[in-house]
Amino acid sequence: MTQGIRKLLIANRGEIAVRIIRAAQALGIPTVAACSEADVDSLAARMADEVHVLGPARADKSYLSIEALIGALKATGADAVHPGYGFLSENADFAEAVLAAGAIFVGPSPDTIRRMGDKAEARRTAQAAGVPVVPGSPDELFDVESALKAAESVGFPLLIKASAGGGGRGIRLAQNAQQLSEEFPRAQREAQTAFGNGAVYLERFIGKARHIEVQILGDGQRAVHLFERECSLQRRRQKVFEEAPSPVLTQSQRETLCDSAVRLAEALGYKGAGTLEYLYDDETGAFFFIEMNTRIQVEHPVTELITGIDLVQAMLRIAGGEPLGLHQSDIRLHGAAVQMRLNAEDPARNFFPSPGVVEALEWPQGEGVRVDTHLYQGYRVPPYYDSLLAKLIVHGADRAQALARALSAVEQTKLTGMASTLSLHGQLLEQPWLHQADFNTGTLEAWLAEHSNGGEA
Ligand code: ADP
Ligand code: ADP
Ligand code: MG
Repeated sequence: MTQGIRKLLIANRGEIAVRIIRAAQALGIPTVAACSEADVDSLAARMADEVHVLGPARADKSYLSIEALIGALKATGADAVHPGYGFLSENADFAEAVLAAGAIFVGPSPDTIRRMGDKAEARRTAQAAGVPVVPGSPDELFDVESALKAAESVGFPLLIKASAGGGGRGIRLAQNAQQLSEEFPRAQREAQTAFGNGAVYLERFIGKARHIEVQILGDGQRAVHLFERECSLQRRRQKVFEEAPSPVLTQSQRETLCDSAVRLAEALGYKGAGTLEYLYDDETGAFFFIEMNTRIQVEHPVTELITGIDLVQAMLRIAGGEPLGLHQSDIRLHGAAVQMRLNAEDPARNFFPSPGVVEALEWPQGEGVRVDTHLYQGYRVPPYYDSLLAKLIVHGADRAQALARALSAVEQTKLTGMASTLSLHGQLLEQPWLHQADFNTGTLEAWLAEHSNGGEA
C-alpha cells in the first residue's frame, strides 16, 4: 500500500521541467516549479500549479543550492522532488538532504548515487557484477608517477577521466607518456575546480567505438531494461543526435548487452530510472561499460517512442512506492526513433552560443512526431544555462521511415530570433553515412572539421 506523491517540486528548468510537469499532471500530482529569478517567465513556471523562486539567476544560488531547494520544500509543503538531469540530479548530498527533510527523492538512494556517480567506483562495481569495462587503472590516481606506472598496463592512447565528471567535461586525451605527464596535473586541477573533486583515473582510448546505452527501470527489488539507444553522433563528447534501437546490434548482441545492464541494476538494488553507458566495438562485437547515469537522460524520449512506456511517469510511480508493474516480457520494441537536439548555438560560427528572443516559432506535425521544448513565442532564452532549446523526436515503423520523417520535421520547423543547430540536423539527414549508420563517436567531429571552412558549408 502506498500513498504516492502528494505534491511534486521540480528542481530543474527548461524542457525537462516542462516534461516532468506533464508527467505529474497525467498522474494528477500537483506541481511546484522551483526556479531562479531568470526563469519566472518560463513555460515551466507558467504550467506549474505553484512557483517558488529559489534565488538569483546564478545556478549556485538557485538550481545548485541545496539550501534554497530544501527551503522551497518546506515553504511549499511539497513531499517529493524530481531533480531532472544536470544540476543536482546526481548529487548524493542533495538526495540525502531531501530525505532528511522528510520528503521523497525521485531517484535511487543516496548510496547508489554516490557509488555510481563516482565513475571510478562505478567501474569497480560493474566489474564485480561481471560486466566488462574499458581497460583502465583500477583506482583513482593522485600523482603523475602513479599515473605513468598505471599507463604501462593501460596502454596509449588513453583518456584521463575525472571520477566526478559528466556532461562531456573532465576528459582529456594523452597520446604518450610525455602528454600524460603534462595533462595529468591539468586534469586534476580542472576536476577539482569543475566538480569539487580532483580524483582522476585512466581509461584506454577506443578510437572507433559506438556509444550504446541501456535504459533500465528498477523498484529496488527487480529491474527491467527498455532496450538500448545509440548516441554515437557527438561533438566534444556531447550527444547531438540519438536513436533507438541501435542500428547495428543483432538480436543476440542486444540481449547480451541489455541483460548485463539488468544484472548490474539488480546487483545495486536499483530504484528508479537509470542508464548504463557502454562503448561498443563494431569490429569485434565487444562492449565495455563506461558509466552509469542515475537519473533521467536527455534522450529518454526515443526509448518512450519505441516502447510506449512513459519513463517519467514510471519514475514518479516508483518513487511514490509502487512496485514495478512491468515484466521484461511486457516490454516490446516497436519501430525506430531518433532525437535531434536543438541548441542555441550557431553551427556556422563554430557553435558559438546564441541566446536571444524567440520570434517566429513553428513546430513540425504529423504522424510519429514529438517536440519536447520550453520555448514559446516572445520567450527570452536566458544566457546563464544549458543551451538546449528543444528536442525533435520522431518515430517510424523502421529506421528509414524515422529518418524520412525526421527530415520532414526539420523542414517544417521554423525558429527565428537566434541561431540554432536545426540547420546542422538538416545537413546531417542528407548524409549517406547517417542513413547507412556508418559512424562512430569520432565521425561527427571529423565531418564538421571537413565542412567548416569558415563558411556556412
Ligand atoms: P545525457 O547523459 O542525458 O545525454 P548530458 O550528458 O547531455 O545528458 O547531460 C545533461 C545535462 O547535465 C547537461 O546540461 C550537462 O551539462 C549536465 N551534466 C551532466 N553531468 C554533469 C556533471 N557531473 N556536472 C555538471 N553538469 C553535468
Ligand atoms: P560523461 O560523464 O561526460 O558523459 P563518459 O564517460 O560517458 O562521460 O564519456 C563521454 C563520451 O566520451 C562517450 O560517449 C564517448 O564518446 C567518449 N569516451 C568515453 N570514454 C571513452 C574511451 N575509453 N574511449 C573512447 N571514447 C570514450
Ligand atoms: Mg556519459
